[in-house]
Amino acid sequence: MTSHQINPFHVAQQQFDQAADMLRLPDDVRAILRVPQRELTVNFPVQMDDGSTRVFTGYRVQHNLSRGPVKGGIRYHPSVDIDEVRALAMWMTWKCALVNIPYGGAKGGVIVDPKQLSPGELERLTRRFATEISILLGPEKDIPAPDVGTNAQTMAWIMDTISMHRGYTVPAVITGKPVNVGGSLGRVEATGRGVMLMVREMARKLNWPLAGLRVVVQGFGNVGSTAAHLLHQLGCTIIGVADASGGYYCAHGLDIPAMRAYADRHPFHLLEGYSAPGVERISGSELLELECDVLIPAALENQLTGANAERIRAKLIVEGANGPTTPEADAILGERGILIVPDILANAGGVIVSYFEWVQGLQEFFWDEQDINDKLERIIVGAFQQVTTMAEQRRVPLRLAAYLLAVQRVADANTTRGVYP
Ligand code: NAD
Repeated sequence: MTSHQINPFHVAQQQFDQAADMLRLPDDVRAILRVPQRELTVNFPVQMDDGSTRVFTGYRVQHNLSRGPVKGGIRYHPSVDIDEVRALAMWMTWKCALVNIPYGGAKGGVIVDPKQLSPGELERLTRRFATEISILLGPEKDIPAPDVGTNAQTMAWIMDTISMHRGYTVPAVITGKPVNVGGSLGRVEATGRGVMLMVREMARKLNWPLAGLRVVVQGFGNVGSTAAHLLHQLGCTIIGVADASGGYYCAHGLDIPAMRAYADRHPFHLLEGYSAPGVERISGSELLELECDVLIPAALENQLTGANAERIRAKLIVEGANGPTTPEADAILGERGILIVPDILANAGGVIVSYFEWVQGLQEFFWDEQDINDKLERIIVGAFQQVTTMAEQRRVPLRLAAYLLAVQRVADANTTRGVYP
């Protein structure tokens, strides 16, 4: 099966079922948690620069609301579909429960390649999509954030659109905003920082020195480039990175600051055309199969599958992306002794600092960056310790351990609240 044929929602349900079986969840609770609570599909027109009108399709899915308002990013990508959004919403529920922040999971997306749109078209698309899904949004209901293909500017347009409807500024309706309109210090880096902390904690546990640790990163966007940068600062050797333009390899280590500066100058934040002495161009699939200590998939779902799991030569995988490993690959990698820090833990830094941004927006009182980074570290390292303890107690892989903790918390909240009416 190719990565495009693997349905992420079926993957998410399979992962849930495994935990539900082990937890012996009652059938009624299992039936509730196995599917999203609410789904909205919107088809909406956008005026293009040439005067024509195009109709776009978008989604907002709320998986579970028992632990609080729902939270989750908005993705702009041509391969967005309802099942991908359902999977991402479900993973958000488990992630928020695992790091114990008071949210349920949601996700949104629009089927669009943002690189094909002008800034004006992108703004009009964003404002209309925000209007279409505004019946679901609100600081006490559903709080979106950035994901693949969206950024702080997108979040600012959504915040402004909702604020225009209400007639006053509503900063807490969205997170990942620019700092000058109520965003949080440290939010841009938060997901990559969390990934870095998980690499650091695993290295500590395995007695691996960080200096010279060979790291490969797939995806050089918000998550991948930040993780690469922070690990480079810790003395790790980043031997390979890839983005949508292909892979870049250097056995002695890539110049990550120079590559970040290069991508920053590219109109679509790509490494396309980057070259430097000693840097080889390789394909995206070759990059995943490089021999290394740590592989960080930080692009899209279904990158490590039954088709390539036998050829992965990393010792440790830390999942920056959501859903990069299929259950089939999980089993093969597990048998081969390759450790995996699962997405719902490894990339939780983003939603943790989004939670801080929401709290700061609600109370209109802002914290300094050190305070934010310290609080992030305390929460994510605490969750890491709970997951590794659970994995040792139950003799299960880290992913299943994380699911056991998260699913139990959501099931408990659900049961405590009861079935209405
Ligand atoms: P982004 O749009 O900033 O970056 C995505 C990167 O992936 C880009 O560099 C792109 O070129 C690259 N890419 C796309 N297709 C590729 C391919 N086939 N091979 C190699 N690289 C490819 O997105 P992001 O926000 O960094 O998100 C990346 C992943 O992390 C997604 O799975 C997302 O759901 C997850 N995530 C993001 C956040 C966040 O705070 N942004 C939080 C948690 C999880």
